[in-house]
Amino acid sequence: MLIGVLALQGAVSEHSGALDSLNISNKEVRNTDDIREVDGLIMPGGESTTLRKLLVNSNLWDFIKESDIPIMGTCAGAILLGKSDDITFEKMDYVIDRNFYGRQIDSFEEKLEIRGYPEFRGVFIRAPAITDIGKTQAIAYCKGNVVGCIEGKNMALTFHPELTGNPYFHKMWIDTLE
Ligand code: GLN
Repeated sequence: MLIGVLALQGAVSEHSGALDSLNISNKEVRNTDDIREVDGLIMPGGESTTLRKLLVNSNLWDFIKESDIPIMGTCAGAILLGKSDDITFEKMDYVIDRNFYGRQIDSFEEKLEIRGYPEFRGVFIRAPAITDIGKTQAIAYCKGNVVGCIEGKNMALTFHPELTGNPYFHKMWIDTLE
């Protein structure tokens, strides 16, 4: 199995590091030649409007839209996977609000509630919020709100799991691909 990390913006090396720690082969994805080689794609956070433009300019938007490649989207990546007021891939059934926390709460770190798992601190940076989980399955909560969900082989997280050095969510997603 070879996993791609979308390398157009965001914390690319941290996601690669999480995969390395799980001994999962990975490569950076910048164009349609790269993405054809991989079995799944991590879409890191950043800024969803910019990410959308970079995806369109690299022809990756149309490729991803038309393919069934499994995706793990974090933060801005999660905005592009769900349903929102902006144009997204709509590969998952949840509704996401990219401006939910507004500018007052720029970023915060908070313990997550994950069934059967004792401690994971979520790092939220200008985080979006899942306002309706639709047909997806919730996997993580923070203060009672859903902050992570899965649907088939796709996973969306509103926080940054790659910044904590704990590959728990990366492993959970990889396990769905095997
Ligand atoms: N709120 C940002 C957006 O609109 C995402 C922030 C992030 O990815 N850390 O894209």
